[in-house]
Amino acid sequence: MRLHGNKTDYVMTGDKRAPNTIALMTGARDAPLAYGLDPKTEKSPFWPMGVALMMAEKAKQCGEVPVGAVLVQDNRIIARAHNQMNGLKNPMAHAEILVLVQAMAVLSSKYLNDCHLYVTLQPCAFCVQALILARIGRVYFGAYDTSLPAPESFERIGGVCEQRCQSILHEFFHQKR
Ligand SMILES: [Zn+2]
Repeated sequence: MRLHGNKTDYVMTGDKRAPNTIALMTGARDAPLAYGLDPKTEKSPFWPMGVALMMAEKAKQCGEVPVGAVLVQDNRIIARAHNQMNGLKNPMAHAEILVLVQAMAVLSSKYLNDCHLYVTLQPCAFCVQALILARIGRVYFGAYDTSLPAPESFERIGGVCEQRCQSILHEFFHQKR
C-alpha cells in the first residue's frame, strides 16, 4: 500500500527549491510544541520522531554522534535504531542502515515501500542510496544537513521537530570541542 502518490512529489518544509509545498506540512517545525513528543500520544502525526529522538539520546549516552531512526508501518513502529559507528566499529552503521536491516528481518521482506522512515538528521548520500534500494515510501527527517544534495526517488519531508533534532547534535559537538 502506498499512502501518497508520486515518488517525484517532494515535500520539503522550508526548502528553498519547493516553497509552494510548505503549506502541506505546516506545523512540522512546531510539532514538539504543538503536540508534545510523547511517543504514546498518537495525536501528533509526527509522534515517531519523538521515538527517533529517544534513540538519538541513547546514541549520545554511548558516545556516538546522536542520530536516531524509526521505521513505521501502518502507524506502528517496526524497528528503531541509533547510530553505532563507534560501537560496531563500522563506518556504515548509520541509524538508517541499522533500522532498515532490522525492519527487513522483522517483516521478512527486502522491500519496505509501505513503510515510513523517521530520522533525526537528513540522510547522507550513502543512506539515501540504501533507502532507494529498500524502496522506502517516505522519509521524514528533523535537522537539515545543508551540505547534502537532494535525495531522489522517495518523498521526503524535512524539518519535523527540527529544533530538537538539531539541538541534540549541536550540544554533542559543542561538548566535544
Ligand atoms: Zn547515513
